[in-house]
Amino acid sequence: MPAKAAPDINETRRDCAMPAKTHLFLCLQDNYGVLVHDTASGATAAIDAPEAGPIEAALNKTGWKLSDILVTHHHGDHTGGIAALKDHHRCRVVAPRNEAAKIPLVDETVGEGDAVKVGGLSARVLETPGHTAGHIAYWFASEALAFVGDTLFSIGCGRVIEGTPEMMWRSLVKLRDLPGETRIYCGHEYTQANIRFAQTVEPDNLALIARAAEAADQTAQHKPTIPTTIDSEKAANPFLRADVAEVAEAVGMAGKAAAQVFAEIRARKNKF
Ligand SMILES: [Zn+2]
Repeated sequence: MPAKAAPDINETRRDCAMPAKTHLFLCLQDNYGVLVHDTASGATAAIDAPEAGPIEAALNKTGWKLSDILVTHHHGDHTGGIAALKDHHRCRVVAPRNEAAKIPLVDETVGEGDAVKVGGLSARVLETPGHTAGHIAYWFASEALAFVGDTLFSIGCGRVIEGTPEMMWRSLVKLRDLPGETRIYCGHEYTQANIRFAQTVEPDNLALIARAAEAADQTAQHKPTIPTTIDSEKAANPFLRADVAEVAEAVGMAGKAAAQVFAEIRARKNKF
C-alpha cells in the first residue's frame, strides 16, 4: 500500500474501510452461520459454530481458511460445531468470559470493551446479557458490521432465558445506539414470524409494512432476510421501540417505564 502523509482519522477509515467480506449460510433448522474474512491478511472468523458441516462447506466454497471462532453465547446451537472445527483447523476460540465454562475448547475469554482481532480487522466486544447471562456481541466499527447472536433479531429479539427483561432492554438499547448504518447479523432466520407478531403491536407502522413486503419478497426468492441495519430495526422492530409512546399505548402500558413496556411485549410474543 503506498505511504500517505499523516491522514486524519476519517481519511484512514475511508481508505481502509470495508476490507471485510462476509458469507452467510443456514445451519441446523433455522440457525445462521456466517464467516467474516479479512481480504488483506486472509484471516477468517466463524461467528458461532452451530454445526461443523455447513461451516466446512462454506469454507470450501469461499476458499477461506478458518483462523478464529467468535462465540456469542453458550447455547448448543451456537457451539455444537466447535470441537470438530478446532480439531480440523486448529483455530482460536474466543468466548464470553462470563459463560466460558459452558463453552468447549475456549482459548481466549473477553468482556465489555475488549478488542478482538481477526487478522487486520478489529471487533469491540459488547456485553448484551438477557438471553443468556454472559451473552456478547461483536462490533466491527470500521466495517459497520455487528454480530449480535440471539440478542437482537430482525423485527424481534431473543427470549429472556437467563436474565431479566430490564437487563435485556438495556442490552437492546446498547445495540440500538450503534451507528444507524451498521449491518446486523443475528443467529436465526425468524423474521417472517417476528413480523406477524410485530404487526399485532403496530399494524399501522409504515416502516414495518414496508419491511413485511421486503421480507416476503426475500423469502419468496429463497434469500435470507439478513443482514438488517440498526436504522431499519429502530423504525420497525417493536422490541427496540418500547420507549415510543404509541407502542406503550398499543400494549396498554401508556406512561410506564420502557423496560416494563418491553417486558409486556416480550411476554406477548412468548404466547403468540
Ligand atoms: Zn441462544
